[in-house]
Amino acid sequence: VERTLVLVKPDGVARGLVGEVLRRVEAKGYRLVALDLRTPTRDLLSRHYAEHEGKPFYEPLVAFMSSGPVVAAVVEGQRCVEGFRSLAGATEPTTAAPGTIRGDLGRDWGLAVQQNLVHGSDSPGSADRELALWFPSL
Ligand code: ATP
Repeated sequence: VERTLVLVKPDGVARGLVGEVLRRVEAKGYRLVALDLRTPTRDLLSRHYAEHEGKPFYEPLVAFMSSGPVVAAVVEGQRCVEGFRSLAGATEPTTAAPGTIRGDLGRDWGLAVQQNLVHGSDSPGSADRELALWFPSL
């Protein structure tokens, strides 16, 4: 079976939506393999977001993601990489479909970075890379 990295971003933790996000993951039938609350270092985030380096939202994104605790989860299930992306919805909370995490719960604050509650790996290859960064002992 496939594994993916799910993050409840600092806005999700601050708003008390950890349980709601994990509820949706579990209700979908995915299994939690590991779970951790931590404030990520800039070093970890620079590797996690390497593909975005140089983009205008990169610095604000790293600053936002290191601003407070996130919940990192290793999630397992059939096609869960694509499946969690579908649960999360589109990047922008305003246009994310109702029924998705971002569509139901996300708010567009008009900030330099989308504070869009969650992250999910975007391909099985990204999932392997990200899981090795966030959970090296797994
Ligand atoms: P994630 O990877 O976090 O699940 P995503 O795949 O929808 O979201 P990416 O393109 O990987 O989005 O961008 C990573 C994160 O960077 C987004 O989740 C969002 O927080 C922020 N971001 C991406 N594009 C923009 C943008 N144009 N303006 C502001 N913030 C952005």
